[in-house]
Amino acid sequence: MNLYAIETGLFKLDGGAMFGVVPKSLWSKRYEADSNNMCTWAMRCLLVEYSDRLVLVDTGIGSKQSEKFFSHYFLHGDATLDKSLAQHGFHRDDITDVFLTHLHFDHCGGAIERNPKSDAYRPAFKNARYWSHEDHWKWATEPNAREKASFLKENILPIQESGQLNFVSSNGNFTEELFPGFKALLVHGHTEAQMIPHISYKGQAIVFMADLLPSHAHVPLPWVMGYDTRPLLTLSEKEKFFKTAVANDYTLMFEHDSVHQCGKLTQTDRGIRFDSGFDLSEFL
Ligand SMILES: [Zn+2]
Repeated sequence: MNLYAIETGLFKLDGGAMFGVVPKSLWSKRYEADSNNMCTWAMRCLLVEYSDRLVLVDTGIGSKQSEKFFSHYFLHGDATLDKSLAQHGFHRDDITDVFLTHLHFDHCGGAIERNPKSDAYRPAFKNARYWSHEDHWKWATEPNAREKASFLKENILPIQESGQLNFVSSNGNFTEELFPGFKALLVHGHTEAQMIPHISYKGQAIVFMADLLPSHAHVPLPWVMGYDTRPLLTLSEKEKFFKTAVANDYTLMFEHDSVHQCGKLTQTDRGIRFDSGFDLSEFL
């Protein structure tokens, strides 16, 4: 098995929205903001290579939205999904499985593209099975008013219409082992039934944090995004996960952190804190 970080580009989101109730005087010491209060975030995917499968976890924002839509998110940086795949010798048509942690547009926008001939939407990974969780799928396709702007129909419905949609089964807090050494923790604070992949690799565990922990700066327990639908639940989900992560020396991989790709946690007398950051290639 090989693991690769797949950078798909950077975007900006309001720092206040990203740090919830935490005042800027505190969060700005840990995560840089520009003069408009906007912070730069990554859209980093994880590629898991097996001898017979190539699994992509999340897809970034994609390129099919309108200029007006993208103008709100200040996309920048040189990385694209295709370029990042090519750096490791892969093409999007090699992907056999697309695993979607959840269906917010910055995670699944790249899953669907426009057919340049007909302008119709179609899967951007034509040879892949797509994986979602049934509870989340239902939540996303009948969205509440708060999350509606994050669940874009054109990112979601064409997956089902293509016949490429599959649901991951779960039992309690974890999904089935979908691929060898690959299962996901279910958490419900950010959105209903978000899946957090846990991958066993050379006797260690690497966890793709998605929006349970968007960056190293979100480690203190009350530092929860304003976007979360159930912030108190996120807080308790973080607390529980952190204890397991420290006890088992998990490596955390951050989807949105523009400073660190990966990091470890450590127990201090003030609680669990971020320890050290490193690139995925250093861990391997
Ligand atoms: Zn996100």
